[in-house]
Amino acid sequence: MSQVGSVETPLRVAIIGSGPSGFYAADWLLRQANLVVQIDMFDRLPTPYGLVRGGVAPDHPKIKTVSKVYDKTAANPHFRFYGYVEIGKDISHAELKAHYHQIVYAVGAQTDRRLGVPGEQLEGSHAATEFVAWYNAHPDFHHFTFDLSQTSAAVIGNGNVAMDVARILASSYEELHRTDIADYALEALEHSKVTDIYMLGRRGPAQAAFTNPELKEFGELEDADIIVRPEDIDLDPLSQAAVEREHDATTLKNLATLQEFAKRPLRGKTKRIHMRFLVSPVELEGTNRVEAIKLVKNELQAAPDGSLRARATDQFETLPVGLVFRSIGYMGVALPDVPFDAKGGVIPNEHGRVIDPATKLPVQGEYAVGWIKRGPSGIIGTNKPDALDTVNMMIEDVPNLPALNSADASPEAVEMLIRSRQPEYVSYTDWQILDKLEQDNGAVQGRPRIKFSRIPDMLEALAKAKEQA
Ligand code: NAP
Repeated sequence: MSQVGSVETPLRVAIIGSGPSGFYAADWLLRQANLVVQIDMFDRLPTPYGLVRGGVAPDHPKIKTVSKVYDKTAANPHFRFYGYVEIGKDISHAELKAHYHQIVYAVGAQTDRRLGVPGEQLEGSHAATEFVAWYNAHPDFHHFTFDLSQTSAAVIGNGNVAMDVARILASSYEELHRTDIADYALEALEHSKVTDIYMLGRRGPAQAAFTNPELKEFGELEDADIIVRPEDIDLDPLSQAAVEREHDATTLKNLATLQEFAKRPLRGKTKRIHMRFLVSPVELEGTNRVEAIKLVKNELQAAPDGSLRARATDQFETLPVGLVFRSIGYMGVALPDVPFDAKGGVIPNEHGRVIDPATKLPVQGEYAVGWIKRGPSGIIGTNKPDALDTVNMMIEDVPNLPALNSADASPEAVEMLIRSRQPEYVSYTDWQILDKLEQDNGAVQGRPRIKFSRIPDMLEALAKAKEQA
């Protein structure tokens, strides 16, 4: 038997998930000299790109152009895309093991973290991730509804997702029309009555997780004023000392921008974003739906590791709000037959090698990349070195891989299996047809694209386009 990774016996790899981390893993593998590799990338959606399509804010088109890099990877003849194929449903873990030497989990973090306060389940309280997926036309979320007849909304958390949510709520119809926001979301937001958006950070301005370009964007909104109370950005002595010690560029820029916002006179805009710091929700109040949010004022204290943590005081306030978006981080979800650390929301791993929690040893041929490997942190580019870290382990492991049964070890064998399970699977060429249809539909309305949000619509449009070709 020739060595795995040779022309005679290519290394067969399944990548589960088609977001940035999956594509970077594919790219690193395809770049290896002296390694012949056959990659199949699976996604349960018919469309690729993960959070680049379903997470990046619609008014951030530049960030989305990274998909061109993924298209280049996908054009490699050793790469295939199987969209609309779900692991655990259309193909089992055991079948993947039979057909591939190595499996890479690149499934991201598909749910949200919970606040754990009373009233969290009330109507009108939403995970920010649901709102994001809704306005980005994710097929699992197009039917969600958000009561935009409310005038005040709270966004809990001070990360970039919270910034995206607050900015979309505060954008004008004209601003949103220029984007590829889902058509139903554009219509709903056009009629939105939300005028006051409260961004609530549990720590101070010097500890905010958002980055400076996102903060500055608040100041550029056409129809929203930004309200920062000077007393809220006065640093406490612990924060002041940390800022002077660490000289973190993002923090310094954020503080300067917030100071500028605090000095700005109100411009009489229709909407207002109120940035509040050092407050935590203790309860979402309301009878049948959210009517108010009860907040406790926090102060900062130094933790043993030197970080500054929020500690509740005995001062409370209540903000009347009819909508709450909880934006305190994403959380990974377990895959069938794959080890999972439920507390951390990640697949236990060492440099991407999946670890069996019982034996503490690597599970042969299984790897993780991206948010399911390290948790929901970092920007898209963070996934490039992260994927390389995993791919280095994969390559190190190649000499010890057991041989596959020859009947299963071919691209044709997998294709036959998938055709029998999911005859409507979507190839990369199919996706490119859909992509063009979306852009053509957008052009008619002077928009960059109109996304399909329902899988049956995608499949129908695709079948029609292929018939006409
Ligand atoms: P994140 O950056 O981790 O921010 C989470 C926020 O939630 C933090 O402000 C955190 O405060 C707060 N939080 C956590 N638990 C809380 C609690 N119990 N009560 C109140 N607040 C709580 O997460 P994210 O915003 O979901 O973003 C995920 C990743 O995607 C980040 O790396 C982000 O930069 C990236 N992203 C980037 C962009 C972009 O580049 N434009 C856009 C979207 C997302 P503490 O700091 O006090 O823990």
